Amino acid sequence: MVNAGKESVMQNQLELLLKLQVIDYDLGELERSKEYLPDMMGNLRREIEESQNRYDTAVKELDEARVKQNNLEIDVEAKEADLQKFQQQMMSIKTNREYDALVSEIDNVKETISNKETELLETIELATELEKNIAEYQEKLEQVKENNNRQLAILQEKIDSIGDKTSGKKDERKQLTTAIPKPVMSVYERVRKGKGGAAVVSVKHRACGACYKALTPKKIQDIRKADRILTCDNCGRLLYWDDKESH
Ligand SMILES: [Zn+2]
Repeated sequence: MVNAGKESVMQNQLELLLKLQVIDYDLGELERSKEYLPDMMGNLRREIEESQNRYDTAVKELDEARVKQNNLEIDVEAKEADLQKFQQQMMSIKTNREYDALVSEIDNVKETISNKETELLETIELATELEKNIAEYQEKLEQVKENNNRQLAILQEKIDSIGDKTSGKKDERKQLTTAIPKPVMSVYERVRKGKGGAAVVSVKHRACGACYKALTPKKIQDIRKADRILTCDNCGRLLYWDDKESH
């Protein structure tokens, strides 16, 4: 009877320790989330910004292309007027020298017109391409904004609730630790702080589930009996037998 009572007390302590371990994991996760949630939000905001910049840049480039197109059209028109004027002057040529000079002027103005027209065509092509891109970028921008702002709101809610969640978990922890004997708690705390991660691990393949150090049959027997808390000789973690995991 005494023995059975001892075992169930141990079983109870083990359950409390495992619960404590889950709470400590959650607390650690809440602490880590103070770093990674703002990072995630930064990435989402940056993505919106990049999408906005790409759109704004294309709009600006289109404006510039339109201005350039307009200026080229004006230039071409002016040069064509010059050409007409020179061609009319051809009718009243008196000397060979005058003729040569005028032909040279006409050739020049023709070349200028040709160059300007080539540039004009390229500018119109660029504007068409930009218009197409702008429509695409705008659609993409709307999508990114909608999606990322929704995620940002969720992450902000998470950040806002860290404080409450943490104090809730700390209250739970306090209640649990009062039910665990002090010597057991000090082993647990020492291992948790020293090793990080889980301080209570199940036996796996007849070895410590954390450092994989093989356990003697006697030790395994004692762990299975669960009448006192046993630790791994190698890493110091608290060991327990789990019927589902331990073999
Ligand atoms: Zn170990």
